[in-house]
Amino acid sequence: MRPFHYEHAADRAQALRAAGDAGGAVQYLAGGTTLIDLMKLDVMRPGIVVDINELQREHGEVRPERDRLRLGALARMSDVAADPVVRRDYPVIAQSLDLAASPQIRNMASLGGNVLQRTRCPYFRDTGWRACNKRDPGSGCAAITGVKRRLAILGVSDRCIANYPGDFAVALAALRASVDLEGPKGSRVIPIEKLHRLPAQTPHVETTLDPGELITGFSVPAAPWLRRSLFLKIRDRQSYEFAIASAAVALDIADGAVRQARIALGGLAAKPWSASEAEAALVGHPLSEATAQAAAEQAFARAVAPGDLAFKLELGRRTLVRALLAAGALEV
Ligand code: FAD
Ligand code: SF4
Repeated sequence: MRPFHYEHAADRAQALRAAGDAGGAVQYLAGGTTLIDLMKLDVMRPGIVVDINELQREHGEVRPERDRLRLGALARMSDVAADPVVRRDYPVIAQSLDLAASPQIRNMASLGGNVLQRTRCPYFRDTGWRACNKRDPGSGCAAITGVKRRLAILGVSDRCIANYPGDFAVALAALRASVDLEGPKGSRVIPIEKLHRLPAQTPHVETTLDPGELITGFSVPAAPWLRRSLFLKIRDRQSYEFAIASAAVALDIADGAVRQARIALGGLAAKPWSASEAEAALVGHPLSEATAQAAAEQAFARAVAPGDLAFKLELGRRTLVRALLAAGALEV
């Protein structure tokens, strides 16, 4: 690991000041469960690391309110997953967290760090591979001609086919959550949909955050029908593994027809993937195998799945169909 300057922030103002003074070379340290790995691998090389764990006092809340669920960015994954109201009213969120990583990691890891985790593309994480546009802009992409079965089929570009690996942000995308930000220029709120960027020609620019901008929390709009929601995660082994395909779904069903649908996909796309075409395909129709299949066709209509990625197209469709039918069968 390269030498770096460590700064401990007592509160948000101090964290922002330290980040502002550092210019672009700063990383915040929350649980450290992915940042430290990437620093040891020499993939991330921050000059300054600002420890924000004290901010858990200001931004560690798990607070169900009348019209929204409020989650602080420093809340730990395990605390949010264990919250009884989250489990009852937002099961898709609890499940996305429960199914991620290991109990030890979930006890350390924060929500803010979770949504900002970086791809697990093996060529990105191993600096022995020279060609990686995400790590070294303009160097090429070793994955495009290499082994890519774990990478993305939606939202990719000719520069990068990496997938977004996390689970929680997929649940947030399905539920149209918003993200609270504080930065050197002040505060703002953005939809989760606008947090992550597609690779296009600049895969190294992964989010819309300004340098030093801090995530302080998330808001999930409340609705009683979100109890009919779930997270289905398909992986190579049953635990302690990233998704090769996942679906976060929530359904509002009344009088035998779908009134509203919320769908996002994970493991398959360059960012947490809102499947709005699939949602539109379901609304107004009864939920059945046929309508779920039609929605899945829509969700993957623009997928690009060459070579050893081809299986992900069918796997993705089946994951979504299974998630929709399972959500439809929930007793709420
Ligand atoms: P850190 O490592 O502290 O930070 C991560 C990044 O976010 C850094 O760049 C940091 O600067 C930035 N950051 C952190 N907080 C903020 C903030 N508030 N504002 C702005 N920037 C911030 N995840 C899954 O979703 N599913 C899995 O199945 C899964 N499996 C895993 C298996 C292993 C073996 C490991 C090591 C990790 C796995 N993960 C998985 C990822 C894990 O969930 C993340 O490492 C964790 O959530 C990151 O949170 P953290 O608080 O430790 O982040
Ligand atoms: Fe790098 Fe993206 Fe190619 Fe992986 S897919 S090697 S992250 S450019």
